[in-house]
Amino acid sequence: MRGVYDYDRGISAVDVLFERERLNAVHIVVERGRAAIVDTGTANGVGRVLEALAEKGIAPEQVDYVILTHVHLDHAGGAGQLMARCPNATLTVHPRGARHVIDPNRLLAATVGVYGEQEARRMYGEVLPVQAERVLETPEGAAVSLAGRELTFVDAPGHARHHVVVRDAASGGIFAGDCFGLSYRELDRDGLQFSFPTTSPSQFDPPALKRTIERIMAFEPPAIYVTHFGRLRDLRRLAGDLQRLIDAHVALAERHCGDGAERGARLREGVDRLVLTEAERQRWPLPVQELRRVFGLDIELNAQGLEAWLDAAARNTTN
Ligand SMILES: [Zn+2]
Repeated sequence: MRGVYDYDRGISAVDVLFERERLNAVHIVVERGRAAIVDTGTANGVGRVLEALAEKGIAPEQVDYVILTHVHLDHAGGAGQLMARCPNATLTVHPRGARHVIDPNRLLAATVGVYGEQEARRMYGEVLPVQAERVLETPEGAAVSLAGRELTFVDAPGHARHHVVVRDAASGGIFAGDCFGLSYRELDRDGLQFSFPTTSPSQFDPPALKRTIERIMAFEPPAIYVTHFGRLRDLRRLAGDLQRLIDAHVALAERHCGDGAERGARLREGVDRLVLTEAERQRWPLPVQELRRVFGLDIELNAQGLEAWLDAAARNTTN
């Protein structure tokens, strides 16, 4: 099947073709005839995930876990549909995210707030609730066993407060959701990968995200799997780039915090410039127009996330 990337130790990435190729990966872990699915993509991608599993000889009944790193809809929108199709699966989610998968209406409303009603529906399809009795909350230190293969959960705030990362004991790898940036394969140059932070709304917390990256690195994983997109190596270099770029986003936001009605536009311009500057610095092999296509949505979301962060900081100082 096209768009399935098989790594090692039974780990694969399934491209669920969200908006374009190689934007959104759903990871699957297969161990002795049982499977875990890490992040679900949107409701529109569920068919591809099940098809990829079928090609590996895994029926929906053999899926033991649907694991959410966090409940943003590009990671969790398909959870309800996948759970409906996989009768033996338990869904795992950060304690702060559990009520949102049981009743997705607030998530949907937040998404409609960002994209508008029609666009949200087109992008995310039909988001179904998950029955409460099938949901397992995974706070810091929680673990599940996939046919004896231990997966442990690490609280990972910074991108969102409802974020966990998942350590796979068998491979040492970490499923990092959105905590280790956006690493589009279009940026690869001479076998090098690159990563750019996502600061999307509404819980971006720069110091927390920097600490989460440090914590992830302290486990010395041989590989990190990100939703956007797939397996990353050469992690020290990428972690350094991410820390530097988070600082650059913070400096940008602070520069424009008093710009009033102009602030949103200035932040968008600023994030666009950060992308172009990084492209030049790292010699990403894409012309400017292509870069803006690849990062278009992220530039908008990063700018919105910086605004949300400034607003939250202002509320905290006035309260
Ligand atoms: Zn996210």
